[in-house]
Parts: sequence; C-alpha cells; structure tokens
Amino acid sequence: MADCLFCKIIAGEIPSAKVYEDDEVYAFLDITQVTEGHTLVVPKKHVADLFEYDAELASVVFSRLPKIAQALEKAFPEMAGLNVLNNNKELAYQSVFHSHIHLIPRYGKDDDFSIHFGNHMADYPQEKLQAVAEKISKEFPHD
Ligand code: ZN
Repeated sequence: MADCLFCKIIAGEIPSAKVYEDDEVYAFLDITQVTEGHTLVVPKKHVADLFEYDAELASVVFSRLPKIAQALEKAFPEMAGLNVLNNNKELAYQSVFHSHIHLIPRYGKDDDFSIHFGNHMADYPQEKLQAVAEKISKEFPHD
C-alpha cells in the first residue's frame, strides 16, 4: 500500500533493524523499544488489522511467533517473560495501520511495560456470561 510505513520498511525504502525475514513475514525492532528487544512481526501482505486476516494468513504469521520468541530468549538470557500484544484499531492503541504483533521481552516488574486487567466478575453472573457467549457464538458462519 502506497502510503504505508510498514510496507515501505518491508520494501527496504525505509531502514529498519531487521530481526527475521522470510517470504511472507518480516520482523524488526520497534523504534520505541518499550523493553530491549521489543520486536514487531508483520505480514508482508498489507492487511490493516486482525479483522482483515483469513485463516491462512493467520496461520502463516502466527506460526512464526515461537521461533522469534525462542531467538529473543536466547539473545537475552536475562529475559524473564514475554508479552505478545496485537492492537486492533485506534481505540485499542493501534498507531500504524498495517497489522503487527508486538513481542515485548520482560525483565522485571519495573521494566516500563504494564497491562491493567480490570475485574468485573461481580457484574457477570453465570446467566449473563451465557447470554454474552450466545451473542458471540451465533455470529459464526454455519456450514
Ligand atoms: Zn502496509
């Protein structure tokens, strides 16, 4: 896509710190380096976000995650954990609209990455959980 930052990076028109590349996937360091080794994994095919994936593209892109995670683990033996994060649309903190998966190595509780998980369990008794699940599950296409 013409004005896409990540398409330009994949094409080599904009420099990047490449970590991994194959025919379908490109991985490079996020310039913000939330933690050291913070890597973005992107499909070479331009898709804006997860809503534009099909199963085949997902299997291609997500299948690369273990080996990239394993390379990070070897490169940074002090790494104590890894967050995998995929933001979809602006409200969910997506800022470049070429789908990407963040791999964020974790080194300690004060390593400048955190997630807040709210807990609304009290608002969702079993019947309400079932109703929400039904609302979602009826949207799957039937064969
Ligand atoms: Zn793109």
